[in-house]
Amino acid sequence: MKQRLLFLGPPGAGKGTQAQRLAASQGLLHLSTGDLLRAEVQAGSELGRQVEAVIARGELVSDDLVLAIVRSRLEQHGQGWLLDGFPRNLAQAEALDRLLAELDQRIERVVLMELDDGLLIQRLLGRGRADDNEQVIRHRLEVYRQQTTPLIEHYRQLGLLEAVEAAGSVEAIGERISALLAD
Ligand code: AMP
Repeated sequence: MKQRLLFLGPPGAGKGTQAQRLAASQGLLHLSTGDLLRAEVQAGSELGRQVEAVIARGELVSDDLVLAIVRSRLEQHGQGWLLDGFPRNLAQAEALDRLLAELDQRIERVVLMELDDGLLIQRLLGRGRADDNEQVIRHRLEVYRQQTTPLIEHYRQLGLLEAVEAAGSVEAIGERISALLAD
């Protein structure tokens, strides 16, 4: 099974759920920048307060901050990993490529989870996180479209991209993803 993975897709596609399941079953590090940023907010630091405001608006936090978070985690972890919610734009993807070259590691597969906007919004509204109100959700989808979708082409050109239909039960989607990572 592939050991160094990246999950891509719009907010609400279920990346976190699937990443968590797969990481647990395969013993991979689940590296979710969203989770790590929310932990910083919970910690109540000055940085956390700044991050909280950015998340609440549905904007992206600075590339430098998320890169520092990802770098420190990957440097400490030599084995398999699963990146979830990072990279979010081309600058982050290029910085990740450089970081991985430095660490002599390679992304083995990128899984793109695809779902219609209607279903995404429905799922996000059902989740009830602080940044899951309709206005912020629409903005996050817009940010995804403008800043994150160029990564689809980036990873397609590298021959790493596999797309999966993210509708159905958690188990069914999980099986589809596992099938893409088998070889
Ligand atoms: P997520 O849990 O992945 O939906 O992320 C929640 C929020 O955290 C996003 O709307 C952004 O404000 C912020 N965030 C998470 N990952 C990143 C990232 N790689 N770059 C910038 N901001 C991020």
